[in-house]
Amino acid sequence: MTENCIFCKIIDKEIPSDIIFEDDSAIAFLDIKPVSKGHVLVVPKKHTADALSADDDALKDLMPKVKKIAQALVKTTKADGINISVNNGAASGQIIFHLHFHLIPRFNNDYLPSWPHSDSEAGARAELAEKIKEEL
Ligand code: AMP
Ligand code: ZN
Repeated sequence: MTENCIFCKIIDKEIPSDIIFEDDSAIAFLDIKPVSKGHVLVVPKKHTADALSADDDALKDLMPKVKKIAQALVKTTKADGINISVNNGAASGQIIFHLHFHLIPRFNNDYLPSWPHSDSEAGARAELAEKIKEEL
């Protein structure tokens, strides 16, 4: 347990939450301030700040659970779609620095904001793609 981490405290049952799934390595509970009805957070029990710092094995363990819970959530809420996302770093909107997957049920015409896409220039795109490939 990492001190002052609210999700570690939820995992240790020091603070209450609406748990919908739990096993040896993961827990899932309802978000206290849901973006939509049925907004769930899926959280690995071992503390790690975000997806970039997570062990490959931890992610391998977690992803099938994210999928299974998302399927159940779509059925339960009769959602038309679902966003599965992770914020990594304060700039991305992360406020709790214990890795968690947001599962946000979506409904036709729910009018939640979508990504503000922009135009891009072919040359700049190709240059950037090369740089990223080199890093990989
Ligand atoms: P993020 O911005 O990705 O770090 O998301 C943190 C999420 O945790 C937000 O959607 C919060 O509403 C949610 N949250 C914060 N405290 C609690 C809590 N005690 N129980 C359930 N969800 C929480
Ligand atoms: Zn934690």
